[in-house]
Amino acid sequence: MTVITRFAPSPTGDLHIGGARTALYSWLHARSKGGKFVLRIEDTDLERSTPEAVQAIMDGMNWLELDWDDGPIFQTDRFGRYKEVINQLLAEQKAYPCFCSRERLDTLREQQMANKQKPRYDGRCRNLTGSQIDLEQDHVIRFKNPQQGAVSFNDVVKGKITIANKELDDLIIARTDGSPTYNFTVVVDDMDMGITQVIRGDDHINNTPRQINIFMALAAKVPDYGHVPMILGDDGKKLSKRHGAVSVIQYRDDGYLPQAVLNYLVRLGWSHGDQEIFSRDEMIALFDVNHINKAPSAFNTEKLNWLNQHYIKVSPIDEIMPHLNWHLDKQAINLADGPDIAEILPEFAERVQTLSDLAMVLKPYYCDFDSFDPKAAKKHLRPAAKEALILVRQKLSALEVWNSDAIQSAINQTAEELSIGMGKVGMPLRVAVTGAGMSPAIDLTLKWVGVTRCLARISMAIEFIQAREQAG
Ligand code: GLU
Repeated sequence: MTVITRFAPSPTGDLHIGGARTALYSWLHARSKGGKFVLRIEDTDLERSTPEAVQAIMDGMNWLELDWDDGPIFQTDRFGRYKEVINQLLAEQKAYPCFCSRERLDTLREQQMANKQKPRYDGRCRNLTGSQIDLEQDHVIRFKNPQQGAVSFNDVVKGKITIANKELDDLIIARTDGSPTYNFTVVVDDMDMGITQVIRGDDHINNTPRQINIFMALAAKVPDYGHVPMILGDDGKKLSKRHGAVSVIQYRDDGYLPQAVLNYLVRLGWSHGDQEIFSRDEMIALFDVNHINKAPSAFNTEKLNWLNQHYIKVSPIDEIMPHLNWHLDKQAINLADGPDIAEILPEFAERVQTLSDLAMVLKPYYCDFDSFDPKAAKKHLRPAAKEALILVRQKLSALEVWNSDAIQSAINQTAEELSIGMGKVGMPLRVAVTGAGMSPAIDLTLKWVGVTRCLARISMAIEFIQAREQAG
């Protein structure tokens, strides 16, 4: 039997980390079994669903390259089909119209709560007949949940779960306006789409026995279920905006590579021995739903940063560039205005954890600036450095070739002539040409900044020191 999985988000906001992980696990299960992955948009809540959220979810999936074989299928396009199945259940007397007023239901609930009973519908309209049924009156449609026996399923994550039917009441499957409800539409869709494995958040686990009863009433094959525990913040509380970024697209904006986020998410609640690094192909080859953790996992930004740095370091440049370009554009960096990015990238990739930081450290090599980092300037652009900067500028401007060796010997000679340590030339020079106190080896830094920019920036640093001297 072909494996068919689905991701079924409600489009009420961005694709968040928890949803992305569920999507990833469903996608991996389908891909690892040579099956199909369906994207279904559960947009029946017309008030909360928006086209922007649909787009945001698809943008998140596309960024992570979680491709779907079918869809997006919109539940709002399937109202006719839901109506048909409701009519079928009514005709087979597996569902019934319920005329109970809101007031009656409220009173019932209050009484049950006062008696310390679980609030549930008491089945008053379950057995109405003949003239008791006036479909002109306002009514909902309820599913006739079996009253005897129990529902049992083997959750691939949580193990065997059994619920007595007497714990479940007769669920509303269509509201007064005829619109179908969540637990019903999910079943019709999972049935029609031939879903074989439902992998979703464990906030849905209480819905599953109800859904299984509807599957059985429709004589449809019940899928396997796997309910994935929630993601916690590093403080042990449910992950939320308080913990920082929760939307997947925010991770793109913050400078993460999709491969790092995927690798992070796959390990957040699933393991394969103690392996930490998984390429996309390895994930597909090794993923096994049976190894999803039972316990909730806590988000760990440090680990995500570590993985991101790893992928920035090891990924081939043509994989990094499409993502880096996005950040370069944001910083208005034009690669035509500086050194060959392929030459310098390996040197910088070692030094950063995110692509946004990478764009920031690359900036002085491609763009002019008109001020120095105040902390670095305070420390290194001091009156004592002026003489060294003047002399090194002179030597650099006399160079016939602009390469590492020539630059290094200009710096060495300056230090020798002034009888000062190399650092006393190198550090002011570094701050002068990059604007900040950190950069690769000084000869390479100068080489990549280029002769024209270097000389202009050293002059600017000398002026900065002079102004400082004048200010006392
Ligand atoms: N639409 C539901 C949600 O976004 C998911 C339903 C399901 O996976 O069965 O929480």
